Amino acid sequence: IHSDSWCVRYRTDLEDKYNRRLAITTELKRALASQQNELSMVYQPKVDLRTMKVCSMEALIRWNNSALGFVPPDEFITIAEQAGLIEQVTTWVMQQTIADLAYFRAKGYEFTVAMNLSTQDIQNKVLLRKLVALLTQEGLSPEALELEITESDLVADASLAIENLNELTARGFHFAIDDFGTGYSSLAYLKNLPVTTIKIDKSFILALASDENDQQIVHTVLSLASVFNLKVVAEGVEDVASLEILKEWGCDIAQGYFISRPLNRSDLENWLQNTPF
Ligand code: C2E
Ligand code: CA
Ligand code: CA
Ligand code: CA
Repeated sequence: IHSDSWCVRYRTDLEDKYNRRLAITTELKRALASQQNELSMVYQPKVDLRTMKVCSMEALIRWNNSALGFVPPDEFITIAEQAGLIEQVTTWVMQQTIADLAYFRAKGYEFTVAMNLSTQDIQNKVLLRKLVALLTQEGLSPEALELEITESDLVADASLAIENLNELTARGFHFAIDDFGTGYSSLAYLKNLPVTTIKIDKSFILALASDENDQQIVHTVLSLASVFNLKVVAEGVEDVASLEILKEWGCDIAQGYFISRPLNRSDLENWLQNTPF
């Protein structure tokens, strides 16, 4: 009787959560220190809706661990932030992504690469200096990169983040606001920040072709963005109907499974040779 009481079940849940978090922290530390290719990067193409050609790639991290299996990035990035490991993770992401970008540039491809930064990263001057050094080392200019940050990074006590953003913008970096529409800030507020692009969250795009509420939201965001001169990326485009709507309404860029899933470097190279985009 006691073992399925609410209290015991609650405690077991907490223990499970705690144990999983502990396992992720321990294994992630090991993965970062070892050379075993547990961590990898994949790249998801973005298409310019005016030319219908590939213009950029979003870099996304993947982690396959022998004990834990595939761990979703949303889950381990959050834990890495809390465990003080995010600087190491982002350093790894920067090294890998910039090396891969240099590889594709050497083959003649001109797309840019968008990298995700977490809240702590944009407060970290050491890390941002590392980013500049890595680009210089590979002979790439900051214009080759786009940095994706979320609204929440800029809302809470953000003076250092904004100072760093301004400094990097002066050096030629571009910033995009990720997951737009899920937070609290408005386009009017973004106007005063050094942000050139917004990414409409996929929750508004996945059912765009059939959901009238989503259509209304997306249409409003697009018309306001054009008033404020912001470029708009729609993520989560899964069908041609949504792509056509976005194109017709003047959205600049589309990303999603309809164009391609995220691909590792060699799959991406094959994809680039056969794609209609
Ligand atoms: P995000 O930055 O919003 O990335 C977009 C997510 O949407 C990716 O999930 C991508 O695979 C997924 N996606 C793209 N197109 C479609 C589509 O058509 N349909 C659906 N259903 N999903 C689509 P993923 O790769 O699992 O990443 C989840 C989140 O983890 C990212 O959300 C980002 O917040 C974080 N993340 C991933 N890689 C990194 C990284 O290198 N650094 C940091 N700091 N965060 C990362
Ligand atoms: Ca992103
Ligand atoms: Ca998103
Ligand atoms: Ca996100």
